[in-house]
Amino acid sequence: APAPDKIDYVFKVVVIGDSAVGKTQILSRFAKNEFCLDSKSTIGVEFQTRTIIIAGKVIKAQIWDTAGQERYRAVTSAYYRGAHGAMVVYDITKRQTFDHVARWVEELKIHADASIVITLVGNKADLAESRAVPTEDAVEFAEEQGLFFWEASARSGENVESAFLRLLEEMYKVV
Ligand code: GDP
Ligand code: MG
Repeated sequence: APAPDKIDYVFKVVVIGDSAVGKTQILSRFAKNEFCLDSKSTIGVEFQTRTIIIAGKVIKAQIWDTAGQERYRAVTSAYYRGAHGAMVVYDITKRQTFDHVARWVEELKIHADASIVITLVGNKADLAESRAVPTEDAVEFAEEQGLFFWEASARSGENVESAFLRLLEEMYKVV
């Protein structure tokens, strides 16, 4: 990673979505290229970082995890404060987690900056045989709401990197 004194921007990204959709694992995959099969609910860790280069600029992405506060409306506005980007995650095998995405987007509208860049991620794409959310439903919702959209897997790593990099590139265009 580049030396800290060379950092041009620090970008805050918040990861939200229902409990057990894989938020913490997606974050670990992006920040450390790790996946932990028997992860327990999140305790303690507030954010992880990864430094990347976009358009020749050194960008430190500070990616925040909800630390198990996913109950509806339990995530406080402090969590969203200063966020330039958000990743809303659902589980493609659990319809309810997709039905709740609209609520999470609503929370962003209430608590975050109007200029926040949002990406929707349907996680656990490796479990496609148990799919409960058709890709088209999510594409339609994302288009309606103006969100980026990816199906991804923290387990296989599929599209995790692409989803974060695309989000960070878009955030860079906004600053
Ligand atoms: P969080 O509550 O949203 O932070 O969810 P976690 O990251 O703790 O993951 C919840 C459970 O789903 C854990 O048992 C993970 O191992 C599992 N999990 C997370 N991502 C994936 C994935 O992409 N594929 C599969 N098959 N399981 C996953
Ligand atoms: Mg978690």
